[in-house]
Amino acid sequence: MSMVDYEKVMAAAEQKCIQAGVRFTKRRKQVLSVLIEADAALSAYEIAERCNAGNGSNMPAMSVYRILDLFQDQNLIHKLDIANKYVCCAHISCSHKHDSSQFLICGSCRHVEEISLSNDAVQALQTAASAAGFNAISPQLEIKGRCFRCEQSEGHSVTL
Ligand SMILES: [Zn+2]
Ligand SMILES: [Zn+2]
Ligand SMILES: [Zn+2]
Repeated sequence: MSMVDYEKVMAAAEQKCIQAGVRFTKRRKQVLSVLIEADAALSAYEIAERCNAGNGSNMPAMSVYRILDLFQDQNLIHKLDIANKYVCCAHISCSHKHDSSQFLICGSCRHVEEISLSNDAVQALQTAASAAGFNAISPQLEIKGRCFRCEQSEGHSVTL
């Protein structure tokens, strides 16, 4: 993410917090900024580690968990349940309503893309699930694959 995009996302996140009556404190800012900069899924432990990598910062893991919960409620971040990791929402600086999301997770570099399946696709999934006796299924799918960048670098190494 470029510096301009980073500033834009941080400003939008602050705005969303203010609108929701949530204070965008220094610690909260720090957690979000770690996730934006990582551009990959991180565990709560990894987030705490990165927050504390700078000098003088001492963020307890409990604070990180609380902040992550709060950000999840605001749709600023998402938890990938299967991987038990967190990722920054791709729509922080968007003004549209947040739909249910699906996540493509790169198995090589942990880069995550947030996508939205069509209503028809989600409906098809629900129909298939209920035929199998499953109800109230989560539309949040987490799908493993290989991202564009890893696919490309793989291609290069093959041609060398
Ligand atoms: Zn999102
Ligand atoms: Zn968007
Ligand atoms: Zn990748």
